[in-house]
Amino acid sequence: MSEDDEKKLTKTESGFKLTGSRLLVEKPFAYALKSSLLSEICDNCFQRKQVKKCSGCQTLFYCSRECQKQGWKIHRKECPLLFKIKPQILPDAAFFLSRIIFSLERNPDEKSYYTEKDYRKFDDLQSHEEEIRKDKSRMEHIALLSAVLHRYLGQKNVPRFEELVKLYGKMCINSFSILDPDMQCIGSGIYLGGSILDHSCKPNAVTVFKGTTLYVISTEDINHFEWSKVQISYEDLLSLTSKRQAELSKYYYFDCKCPRCLDFDLQNLETSMLCQSANCGGPVYMNNSDASEFACKDCNQPIRNDKVKKYKKFVLAIEEKLANKSSVIVNSDVDKWCQKIATLAHPLNYYYVKLLDLACEEAIKTENWKGAAEYGSQLVSGFRHYYGALNPILGIHLMKLSNLYISLNNKKMAVKHFQEAIKILKLTNNESILTYHLQGLDD
Ligand SMILES: [Zn+2]
Ligand SMILES: [Zn+2]
Ligand SMILES: [Zn+2]
Ligand SMILES: [Zn+2]
Repeated sequence: MSEDDEKKLTKTESGFKLTGSRLLVEKPFAYALKSSLLSEICDNCFQRKQVKKCSGCQTLFYCSRECQKQGWKIHRKECPLLFKIKPQILPDAAFFLSRIIFSLERNPDEKSYYTEKDYRKFDDLQSHEEEIRKDKSRMEHIALLSAVLHRYLGQKNVPRFEELVKLYGKMCINSFSILDPDMQCIGSGIYLGGSILDHSCKPNAVTVFKGTTLYVISTEDINHFEWSKVQISYEDLLSLTSKRQAELSKYYYFDCKCPRCLDFDLQNLETSMLCQSANCGGPVYMNNSDASEFACKDCNQPIRNDKVKKYKKFVLAIEEKLANKSSVIVNSDVDKWCQKIATLAHPLNYYYVKLLDLACEEAIKTENWKGAAEYGSQLVSGFRHYYGALNPILGIHLMKLSNLYISLNNKKMAVKHFQEAIKILKLTNNESILTYHLQGLDD
């Protein structure tokens, strides 16, 4: 090792990364917009703008000549193919896979550096081929995609089936959801350097995007920085541990042993009832299925059996509603549901937080600003608990809350939430979020 290399290495390894550091900034190896958003978002800059149809394929949209020109490198080959299959639109996974195939044709050896000397190429990505081959539903999906790709790309341009399995595996295991300024998923991307990031349900970094460019930002100080110490979450953090673990094992083939998954108090809190003795407010853990009597963790007071039954029945109903949320939750119902769960569940109970989130959304939809501000305020502690104190999702929520208080003419609360929001959003370096919401404030 040369002296120079040695210096570089020590520099990285002894590095101290402050909260809010940009750990990685990377352009995608391949990306694809969700098909449902094609006519709303520019395919090149990924901004929600006035967009115009590509006259060639009449499928993709761009916001400007400049963007269309920049996107041509990616779009040149697919443009006539997309036109040919019209009016059919490719399934999202097929479109993304085709872009990966094109990208590999253009730059098979593209390197993406995540330190000064370490890089990854597409070849380096894990495919979990063995597990994929054993997974019946994924193999069925590949067969379907293969048929679609044959029609779209033409026989000779589709990789052999063995190769396709590997590509599909790499796509499933390594793709990132590309998020808009509101942290909603608008597409998928492969980031070669970013693929180094491991998962934790208690992550110390978040991913945000400017257009299609990925930013990995630390949300904790990291001493003696190295990449093995950085984790993001692959899953929605507002979720039950059992469900997260099942999904991580099903989709990424590992058993999560992160600090949150090993913390039984945290796990119990997710499904805790509320202690019924006056002024206690403690949690009653429900996970012990043998317990004939459940008692408060703080004051030890047992909880009445009829309450337990009521809670369990209620949870089943909420589960059902969450599973097909669009058809079952009716606007007028959600208020009643929130009042009911407030008497039964601990404020950090997952179902409680989920219901508040729905109630807040519904209130905004029906322009019930007062209700939205109330639910939104109650939601803050739940979001902080599940997402972490510096997650942009919390920042965006606080920003929305600030806007709500403005419409209610409550300046004091508006400013309070605005300041908290700015702190988080500035730290997580998401300037696009800031400009986006400040524009909202002007309106
Ligand atoms: Zn554009
Ligand atoms: Zn086109
Ligand atoms: Zn975990
Ligand atoms: Zn108690």
